[in-house]
Amino acid sequence: MRAVILNEFGGPDVLRCTEVPRPQPGPGEVLVRIACCGVCHLDLILRSGMRSRVQPPRILGHELAGEVIETGADVQGLVPGDRVASFNFQACGHCQDCLKGRPSLCRQTHGDIGQTRDGGYAEYAVLLASNLVKVPAGMPLDHACFAACVYGPPYKAIRQIGKIEPGQTVVITGASGGLGLAAIQIVKALGGRSIAITSTADKVAPLKAAHADEVVVSRDGTFGEEVRRLTGGRGVDLVVELIGSPTFHGALRSLAPGGRCVVIGELHGKPIELNLGLLIIKEWEIRGVQSASGADLREILDFMHEHGLDPVVWKRMALEDAAEAHRELANREAVGRILLVPSLTPSLAALAS
Ligand SMILES: [Zn+2]
Ligand SMILES: [Zn+2]
Repeated sequence: MRAVILNEFGGPDVLRCTEVPRPQPGPGEVLVRIACCGVCHLDLILRSGMRSRVQPPRILGHELAGEVIETGADVQGLVPGDRVASFNFQACGHCQDCLKGRPSLCRQTHGDIGQTRDGGYAEYAVLLASNLVKVPAGMPLDHACFAACVYGPPYKAIRQIGKIEPGQTVVITGASGGLGLAAIQIVKALGGRSIAITSTADKVAPLKAAHADEVVVSRDGTFGEEVRRLTGGRGVDLVVELIGSPTFHGALRSLAPGGRCVVIGELHGKPIELNLGLLIIKEWEIRGVQSASGADLREILDFMHEHGLDPVVWKRMALEDAAEAHRELANREAVGRILLVPSLTPSLAALAS
């Protein structure tokens, strides 16, 4: 099979598509023919070697969907022909956090796709059956592959934590990325009103096209005043914070009394200042959120399918173009997500290199 193998850490060019033997499923595992795999910011970090969990050679890619081709021994609930999507990690199921229904806090995860086992930058992958969820009938696989990592965190923030109801208002920072666009769609599906924050004027039109109700351009994170103006001085019910420290001050400035701020992204890793007096007076809630568990994924797939949520795909690229896909994501050229599609033929540029 063709697969993009990470043989060493480094820049995008370490990603090379080569021919390797097709893996065989063992006990508890299934062989999946990959229909598509999203390219995630986490993949850039893993490729560069900044996280130690990956040991080359490794096949990256955790945002995958495809069809079950073969099942190993002891696999229940999946048969060849089933259409499946994956979630990123496998919680232990018996620690305190797992038993409290917070598997994303589990410290004993295993089977992390594209990290501790091979992932979706390939024609086929052998995966733990317990990492897979069936895709609802009629739902395209190139929608389902984004359910866990792209729709998961904003879904948890907006529906499970924010409990957004019709008429409520949500600020989304870093709105033109894959998670931001997903957040806009989720807010709309719930009948809420979204205010999308972006740093460049050329993202306004695509954000409007993606059904953001309002778009505010802010380079320096001082969008709070404009958000207050747009909400009649009150502020918003929820902030979905996808950028982190550079926009956090503006996020709090945007928040109505009793509002919630859910932090999903932190791009700079810088400490922030927080006026605790304000936190008390306004009774704000600030929470972090991680990616979706298996139970979340079932709920999210149904929600996406029911509301016809359509992920914004910037480009579909062949496996041979994986290096170029990483470059475009790193350069922030993309509005929405980049998909690797194994059935596509490579670009001329990829063939020449
Ligand atoms: Zn991801
Ligand atoms: Zn656990």
